[in-house]
Amino acid sequence: PAGSVEVITGSMFSGKTEELIRRLKRALLARQRVQAFKPRIDTRYDVTRIVSHGATAIEAVAVATSESLEARVAEDTDVVAIDEAQFFDAGIVQTCERLANRGVRVIAAGLDQDYLGRPFAPMPELMAIAEEVTKVRAVCAVCGGTACRSQRLAPEATTVLVGGTESYEARCRACFEPRDVPR
Ligand code: ADP
Ligand code: MG
Ligand code: ZN
Repeated sequence: PAGSVEVITGSMFSGKTEELIRRLKRALLARQRVQAFKPRIDTRYDVTRIVSHGATAIEAVAVATSESLEARVAEDTDVVAIDEAQFFDAGIVQTCERLANRGVRVIAAGLDQDYLGRPFAPMPELMAIAEEVTKVRAVCAVCGGTACRSQRLAPEATTVLVGGTESYEARCRACFEPRDVPR
């Protein structure tokens, strides 16, 4: 079978993980062999779960680099899912490309923008090489409109600040207020 790359992207709370899990459940119904991965950020466990804010979940393996992800993909795997793809190194683009070239259906979900609204590498490159890009959107926490940005509520000025509703909320372009942090 021909492989391909699908990207699911958008802000925090936009349903990226739910959509990823939905596609994986359908692949499992079709008796496809599925492997799911996420970046190892601060967990010490290899075997973990991808959990959405809506509390759906699927088993996954936490890996530190794109290289170790690629090394863990079995010969007979049909579908490779990657959540939080924005946290991987630049090598994730070639990893997805190589997997797709050998027939794997790759589905990568991740943030398109960081907390300042800047493109979140390596997602722009992944979106460019993908056959299909799905942008999902959240509900703006301020006005109830359609949200495309992740508003950081905490004062930290580091790009990677792992957190949930206590540190971030979804906002539309008009309600988004990037903090005055040097770019
Ligand atoms: P993502 O992976 O994009 O961060 P998830 O798939 O984990 O998103 O979570 C999506 C779910 O989050 C929604 O189905 C809804 O239950 C919940 N949710 C909480 N806040 C919002 C919001 N502001 N907009 C949309 N969904 C929200
Ligand atoms: Mg998610
Ligand atoms: Zn708004």
